[in-house]
Order: sequence, then C-alpha cells, then structure tokens
Amino acid sequence: DAAMYDVKFNGKNHWRYYSQGIEDSNQRRMMIANGLRKALERGELELYYQPKIQISSGAVMAVEVLLRWEHPLYGRIMPSEFIPIAEETGMVLPIGEWVLRKACKDYKAWEKVGCAPEKLCVNISPRQFSDHQLIPKIKQVLEETNFHPQRLGLEITENVAMYNMAEAETKLTELKEMGILLALDDFGTGYSSLNYLRRITFDKVKIDRSFIKDVLSHEQTAKIVQSIIFTAQSLNMTVVAEGVETKEQLDFLKANHCDMAQGFYICKPLPSKELIEFLQKE
Ligand code: C2E
Ligand code: MG
Ligand code: MG
Ligand code: MG
Repeated sequence: DAAMYDVKFNGKNHWRYYSQGIEDSNQRRMMIANGLRKALERGELELYYQPKIQISSGAVMAVEVLLRWEHPLYGRIMPSEFIPIAEETGMVLPIGEWVLRKACKDYKAWEKVGCAPEKLCVNISPRQFSDHQLIPKIKQVLEETNFHPQRLGLEITENVAMYNMAEAETKLTELKEMGILLALDDFGTGYSSLNYLRRITFDKVKIDRSFIKDVLSHEQTAKIVQSIIFTAQSLNMTVVAEGVETKEQLDFLKANHCDMAQGFYICKPLPSKELIEFLQKE
C-alpha cells in the first residue's frame, strides 16, 4: 500500500516508494536463500564450540557446536537468521550433514591432544529431524569419522515433533538405542513442554536462556527455574542452564543444584583452535 510509506524524490526526476527497511529485509532473505549453497561449497561456513561445565566441579563435560557464516561481502551471519531460511529451502539438510562431519573431525583433533570433553552436542532443527534419512546419515558420518555414538549428543527443540509425535518418539528411541544422548533444547518456550517430558525420556533438559536472564530480577521466574530443575531431576534428567552471563546467575543455579551451565560468563563459543587452548588451561 503506497500510502503506508513515505514517498521520496530520488533526485533523478522520478518518485519512488521509500520502504527501504522492508525491501532490505526481503533482499537479505533472498541473498541468504540463494547464497547458502555457495556458502557450503566455498567453505564460508565455520564451526564454533561452546563449553558446558558441571557446576559443582567446574569441569568441562561437553561442547555445543554452533554454526557461523562468514560472508565475504556481508560479514558474519548468525544461525538465528539463516537456519530458519535454510529450513524453508531444505539447505539445512546438506548443511546439517556437513556440520556433523566437520564437528566429528574437529573432535578427533581434540582427542589427539588429550583434551576432548566427554560429549559433542549438535543442534538438529525440525526439518532435519523429520528427514527420513536422518538416522542413516548420522550412522554413515559416525562410521566415516570413526566417532563413537556415546560421544554424540543431539539438541532438539520441542517443536521437532510438531508434525508427528508418534513418529518422533520412534526416531528418538532409535537414536537412544544407538547410544546417542538426547537433549531437549530451549526448554520452557514451546507449546507443551511438560507434555513432552511425559512422553519422551530425554537425557538432558536445557533451560532456555530467557529464563536465566530474569532469574535474579523476577521472583516468579526464579520459582519456575527451581521447579524445572526439580522436575527434570525427578525424571533422572540432567539439567543444563543456557545463557549464563553473570557470576550471580551461576551462584543461583549452584544453590539450586542445577547440574550444568553454559554461557558467556563461563566461555563464549570459540573456533576449534581457541577451544583447545581453553580446554588445555582447564
Ligand atoms: P541454541 O541451540 O539454543 O544455542 C544457544 C545460543 O545461545 C547460541 O546462539 C549461543 O551463541 C548463544 N549463547 C550462548 N551463551 C550465551 C549467553 O551467555 N548469552 C547470550 N545472549 N547468548 C548466549 P547462536 O550461536 O546464535 O545460535 C542460535 C541458534 O541457532 C541455536 O540456538 C540453534 O537453535 C541454531 N543453530 C546453531 N548452530 C546450528 C547448527 O549447526 N544446526 C542447526 N540446525 N541449528 C543451529
Ligand atoms: Mg542448542
Ligand atoms: Mg538453546
Ligand atoms: Mg535457542
């Protein structure tokens, strides 16, 4: 609707709609949708790793794999922006396979220098999860990289089973039987978080960082976090707090017996080389 925008004289004798913001965001979406395949082929994707510590001991128990896109023209693009687009185009499938393969290889390098943590945790988005080839692909990559399934964790959000709960249960059971650790990511933000816990046994629950952010300033949030910790532990699940940014937040989690923590206060996501330095200092 033309009336929605300011009309601006562009100095060349014609008028144009001044809706730069909207045009820019559509153009950026297009750029991302069209650029992802090349990004993968040209090696513009990079992996960063963020440690997860056991709160009681401070020991690094796992690292989470986080994808970055270093675009030659537009600079760093974050997964929160391009993963949803890759989901729509389907590019998330080859990208996800690349992520797993590359992460398994990097892990082998940490093993060689004797600092590999127990688990390597990879994010799996809904489209990847609903892919019928998911399990065969994982098996193939693990074999190819000689990576033990017991070392692998998959982080999935509540909406992975959005389409078909029964099918999701079957798949999750098969992954568990392979020895793969299952973590429920961003817990508390989905439609029926508790219903999930009733039906599917996860090994880990990750409390969404929006809760951790308010845990000290909002009494109700603090109570909810305490009860998530209690509920998860009653079900024999390990509880991880994500997005821990301050010592005070970590202290609160420690006082409330949360098992593990992850966040900028502990360590930012790092490239493989820097992660090794961090792990060796431990
Ligand atoms: P997530 O799995 O919930 O990952 C946690 C996000 O929180 C990461 O953002 C991480 O960098 C950020 N983070 C960690 N600690 C802190 C903190 O203390 N404060 C704040 N403000 N943020 C913190 P990132 O790397 O931008 O990733 C965003 C999301 O993109 C991830 O959320 C995950 O859902 C998705 N993602 C990332 N890598 C992959 C991937 O390889 N495959 C798939 N399918 N999804 C991915
Ligand atoms: Mg995650
Ligand atoms: Mg999360
Ligand atoms: Mg998230």
